[in-house]
Amino acid sequence: MLHKFAAIVLCVFGVSAMSQAATPVLVIHGGAGVIKKDMDPATQKAVRGALTNALEHGYAQLKAGKPALDAVTAAITVLEDDPHFNAGKGAVFNHDGKNELDASIMDGATLRAGGVANVHRVKNPILLARAVMERSPHVLMFGDGAEDFAKTQGIDLVDPKYFWTEKRWQELQQALKEDAAGQHADAEKEGHFGTVGAVALDKAGHLAAGTSTGGMTDKRFGRVGDSPIIGAGTYANAGCAVSGTGWGEYYLRTVAAHEICMRVTEMHQPLKEAAEYVINKEIPKLGGDGGAIVLGADGEFATPFNTEGMFRGWVGKDGKIHVAIFPGE
Ligand code: ASP
Repeated sequence: MLHKFAAIVLCVFGVSAMSQAATPVLVIHGGAGVIKKDMDPATQKAVRGALTNALEHGYAQLKAGKPALDAVTAAITVLEDDPHFNAGKGAVFNHDGKNELDASIMDGATLRAGGVANVHRVKNPILLARAVMERSPHVLMFGDGAEDFAKTQGIDLVDPKYFWTEKRWQELQQALKEDAAGQHADAEKEGHFGTVGAVALDKAGHLAAGTSTGGMTDKRFGRVGDSPIIGAGTYANAGCAVSGTGWGEYYLRTVAAHEICMRVTEMHQPLKEAAEYVINKEIPKLGGDGGAIVLGADGEFATPFNTEGMFRGWVGKDGKIHVAIFPGE
């Protein structure tokens, strides 16, 4: 009996000591598809500044002992408000000259998840995805219905004109020209991926992941990519959190985020190997491309990509901000 009691005490204190022990980690991305080696220095500087800003906001939550979900939401909100990224304010245009935004979020500790697809007026889709997760019995809401729900939750709605930016408009004009010249497949290959995402590990040892996007330039027919789909663009469980960015159709077909996490937590494959395999082997084998950020419960993380660069940043166990664009940084 005494032994049993001692074991329980040890177990409770052991677990709580363990759960207090995690050093917070935050990893973010700002997309993988529009980067060229010769990107002008002014854009590089602006993007690095924006990534730093997002890391500061997200990491402040973790330092204050807030849950990983708060860090993910805070970092993504900053990136959504910044026109450099294809999410929120900088979202790309669809074929009809409209912005259709997608986002999702997942709590690794509870496997709760929320997503929204094809919203037009939600300033910060990640906040609506979180409301779907926390304040509705559903996981995925779409279009006008999702916006009706947003109204009931006091989520900021804006005039669709808010999402208009000259740069994205010109990208659409270029894609339409290529369409007219019968080069649509090439235009699609070009990508225009710029999705944003975050994965975080909090002091309690819990993981979360989130992703937000405008999708792909010139998308048609209500096309929805991987970003709002749990398992494809976003996934988190107790041991692994993933946010992807890339040619969404291939992330859907490989159920990329879930596939990486299953390799890590069920097959016990080293995290870097699992991430590399799915992003740099499985997806390219099918003809897709892109990248992902992957974080484990031990704070180890990976940022694989097979494009010319991926906007990314992290605050690792050293507590310092790092940002990168090109391979090897
Ligand atoms: N994955 C997104 C989509 O296909 C695009 C991106 O990552 O930029 O909608």
